Amino acid sequence: MNCYCQSGRNFNDCCQPFIQGQQLPGTAEQLMRSRFSAYCDGSDVATQYVANSYHPLSQADNPVAEITAFAKAAHFIGLQVIDVSDELSLPESLQQRLPEFAAGSPLSFSTVHFKVQFIMQDKLHLLEENSLFIRTDLQWSYLDGTLWDHPTQKLSRNDSCPCHSGKKYKNCRPHRAAGQPV
Ligand SMILES: [Zn+2]
Ligand SMILES: [Zn+2]
Repeated sequence: MNCYCQSGRNFNDCCQPFIQGQQLPGTAEQLMRSRFSAYCDGSDVATQYVANSYHPLSQADNPVAEITAFAKAAHFIGLQVIDVSDELSLPESLQQRLPEFAAGSPLSFSTVHFKVQFIMQDKLHLLEENSLFIRTDLQWSYLDGTLWDHPTQKLSRNDSCPCHSGKKYKNCRPHRAAGQPV
């Protein structure tokens, strides 16, 4: 099966080993892509992976029940990674938020700018975010992100479905998932 993250690789050779806990993502982009693929997968293991991949400072605001509810309500149809800024040193304002810094752990961060398209409640949503990932020792985690404000687009029954299935929206169930052939 193609990976949901549209890397062009197989799921079991791309994001699945991270989601199943067999490997740790080596880069912020790998963590971002595997979090997206986990939302697409939507299984309990996958949504727990999303919850666990938040930095501890953000975990309380992102309970697994909310992640699971969103993963089940949304049909994710596309991911585009626009830009990655790799392994920058931490600005002081950010250092002060992080307990690891006080403990003297080596830290760096990366940002990943991406766009995700999903269908939810008869609307096409575009989520564009610049995400902030922190690396502590050898493990990456997701801290938070800055969102663009994009309007949603109402889908009419006779529109061609934005999942690129080639069907009309009213006839398209289930939707083609991100990265999968038509
Ligand atoms: Zn992938
Ligand atoms: Zn569709």
